[in-house]
Amino acid sequence: MLTGTQVAFIGGDARQLEVIQRMTELDATVTLIGFDNLGQSFTGASHADLTGEALAGADAVLLPIAGTDDEGNVESIFTSKPLRLTSECLATLPRHAKIYTGFAKPYLRNLCAERQIGLVELLDRDDVAIYNSIPTAEGALMLAMQHTDTTIHGTRAVVLGFGRTGMTMARTLQSLGARVSVGVRRPEHFARAYEMGLNPFYTKDLQEKVADADLLFNTVPSLIVTAAVIAALPSRAVIIDLASKPGGTDFRYAERRGIKAILAPGLPGIVAPKTAGKIIASVVSQLIMEDQAKRGSSE
Ligand code: NAP
Repeated sequence: MLTGTQVAFIGGDARQLEVIQRMTELDATVTLIGFDNLGQSFTGASHADLTGEALAGADAVLLPIAGTDDEGNVESIFTSKPLRLTSECLATLPRHAKIYTGFAKPYLRNLCAERQIGLVELLDRDDVAIYNSIPTAEGALMLAMQHTDTTIHGTRAVVLGFGRTGMTMARTLQSLGARVSVGVRRPEHFARAYEMGLNPFYTKDLQEKVADADLLFNTVPSLIVTAAVIAALPSRAVIIDLASKPGGTDFRYAERRGIKAILAPGLPGIVAPKTAGKIIASVVSQLIMEDQAKRGSSE
């Protein structure tokens, strides 16, 4: 339980509602900042503006997945008021307080370093990335279905990268009956893909491996689907690039060649916000409880 723990939420989208729900169920004292247009209420949660006073005594501050922008602005779909996180806002936080976000831009990292506040970037964690790979793969399949006129079953799919997202993507495609090739760069990934009944190849040979691809899913966060690779694809192929912006595809050349190429960031929040929120809620509540237990044992 989180009885006696103060948790402040600053902004967010539908995902954050799941986290708020979980925190109130765990009996935390919840302050909502940037939720004035919220159409539902949470028992015991109070609303405040973004000031140092509102954050005074907070043990945990929860920001949206995207944290802040480069000027400290925090997005919230539940308010029309601007929310800007400044050094002054954080001045009242206790020394043990932590800020939780999906990922942090330099602005937020610098702010936390300046104030010596712990910063937890949830998307860096393997558990969050692996859980998130489930709605990501489902969202990628949705896009594949929308942009092709054939079944996934029997299709020739290439997945680039065999990390947390790539492995789930490959397995999901395989389970639907696709013929799946996986581009890897490590021998142990090659061996694992082989063991799973996939067709592994090394990404250095990518250009030679795409001649009969119907679908290409990229999870490598650097330019890998180059003009030369796109030139080797059949014209019917569809590229779905899951890697973080700007993706790993030469989109300019794909358009020139008439190949459909889609950059698809943030799929968990788009296709399954409730699930994505539950994933964050479960991990964050566990982390806050662990912190609370550590503080309790050192007091
Ligand atoms: P990950 O676990 O680090 O996997 C990345 C994979 O790419 C690893 O297999 C890595 O190989 C490989 N790789 C990296 N650079 C490479 C290169 N130059 N050549 C060949 N292979 C290379 O990361 P992840 O969690 O799967 O995430 C992958 C990307 O998807 C990230 O950009 C992430 O932000 C994004 N993502 C997007 C969504 C969405 O909704 N679209 C959702 C989740 C994640 P090694 O192991 O050898 O390094």
